[in-house]
Amino acid sequence: RIISTESLDIEEQKSEYNLRPQYLSEYIGQKKVKDNLHIFIEAAKKRNEPLDHLLLYGPPGLGKTTLSTIVANEMGVNIKITSGPAIEKPGELAAILNNLSDNDILFIDEIHRLSTQVEEVLYPAMEDYAIDVVIGKGAGARSIRLDLPRFTLIGATTRVGMLSAPLRDRFGMVDKLEFYTHDDLREIVMRSAEVLGVDIDEEGALEIARRSRGTPRLANRLLKRCRDYAEVCHDGHIDHDVAKAALDKLQVDSMGLDVNDRNILMTMIEKFAGGPVGLDTLAAAVGEDPGTIEDVYEPYFIMNGFINRTPRGRVVTDLCYRHFGLDAFIKDK
Ligand code: ADP
Repeated sequence: RIISTESLDIEEQKSEYNLRPQYLSEYIGQKKVKDNLHIFIEAAKKRNEPLDHLLLYGPPGLGKTTLSTIVANEMGVNIKITSGPAIEKPGELAAILNNLSDNDILFIDEIHRLSTQVEEVLYPAMEDYAIDVVIGKGAGARSIRLDLPRFTLIGATTRVGMLSAPLRDRFGMVDKLEFYTHDDLREIVMRSAEVLGVDIDEEGALEIARRSRGTPRLANRLLKRCRDYAEVCHDGHIDHDVAKAALDKLQVDSMGLDVNDRNILMTMIEKFAGGPVGLDTLAAAVGEDPGTIEDVYEPYFIMNGFINRTPRGRVVTDLCYRHFGLDAFIKDK
């Protein structure tokens, strides 16, 4: 799925690595988060203390990992990157923590997917920089406390509601990443084009930005597909018309909706008379996982006003009908 906001494969992850901005000044958009972080980083550096634990949340591809590596660069410390599902046992997390140095950053992506046992190791680690290790078995078993380096945990999640309250409360800073504006995305596309050596003008970049669902990962991916198209079908230069032709060919429409998005919205219209329809019913009708609909598709639909969530279920909006040229279906004109 070209429009998927998750990384597609290892190749894309490598390329993303090269496109990542290294310092806050190069990180485009998200002004509120950047301003907050700037102050926290400078204060921590002045006091020569580790940064407070930080939780970043928001849909995939908005720059949570990127921001974490930037924080490490700005603090001048190392970062260890892992993810919730990758840490299966409490001992594995204990080993990771024990191998950090003072002020280092541990980044845990998808932190909502940590098991309860692993999560419990994090509580004393985050609060007291210590872990409790049980030695021996049965009646002779005793617990000893081991000191850890003074580290910073950066947790990232697409589903902040799934985080347990004790874990959430242990973060000193909680920041939400928002979808990017078209102008920010245009700037990101121009920057990436420069890094990749792609010949593009501002109008071409804006057309890619408009169809990137507010998501830098997608903007970078569409830029690369436009580059392929421009090289094979034109002289390599991407202007507005070339970008438009390439993106039309990929069936990404003027609002960044692809075949799957259109399928979900049209199913709501055709099978459920525009709603209200419950998440599980809709998921079954389109053959998708309810969690994927909620995390990946829905935030963008809601942000753009294509659907509303009501207590009785999801409802298609007038704007959505208009986008599909179905004005006749608008109920209260
Ligand atoms: P997440 O961790 O939220 O899924 P990533 O940090 O992996 O997202 O970002 C995906 C890609 O988008 C990265 O390759 C990065 O180059 C680009 N990117 C994200 N945010 C920005 C930004 N603010 N400025 C420039 N590029 C960005």
